[in-house]
Amino acid sequence: MTYDPDNIFARIVRGEIPCVRVYEDADTLAFMDLMPQSEGHALVIPKVAGANLLDTPPESVAAAIRTTQRVARAVQGAFAPPGLIITQFNGPVAGQTVFHLHFHVIPVYGAGGLRLHAREMAAADVLEANAARIRAALAGG
Ligand code: 5GP
Repeated sequence: MTYDPDNIFARIVRGEIPCVRVYEDADTLAFMDLMPQSEGHALVIPKVAGANLLDTPPESVAAAIRTTQRVARAVQGAFAPPGLIITQFNGPVAGQTVFHLHFHVIPVYGAGGLRLHAREMAAADVLEANAARIRAALAGG
């Protein structure tokens, strides 16, 4: 898939548009989903350009997966959901809407509890409060 260097997540990596960050290292970045499907929904991306899992170098995928596990453990620690979904879509038909590889970390609080995908923007103070809980969990373990 063609990579658009001006996609939203590429712009977030370059610091051109803001995000509510929870974790960053040399290869990856994790931040709150702007339209979360549940409280604590976070996204993890590699910094390298790649439209999806198929187009991204394996070492960058590996780095992103390591961060995904780290963030997932922090989300679990912070929100104690009974379940947690990790998703990743490849191509518009599969549900992908931003074409820079990303993994969703979505806590699940009960049957039918998820809001629709990429639909409703969360309030900035709610995102910041949820991010603070994840950051605290990351710092503690
Ligand atoms: P996809 O459908 O590509 O798997 O997921 C893209 C995700 O990015 C959606 O869950 C959507 O809510 C989120 N999203 C879209 N635009 C932005 C943005 O500008 N900032 C953040 N933090 N998330 C975004």
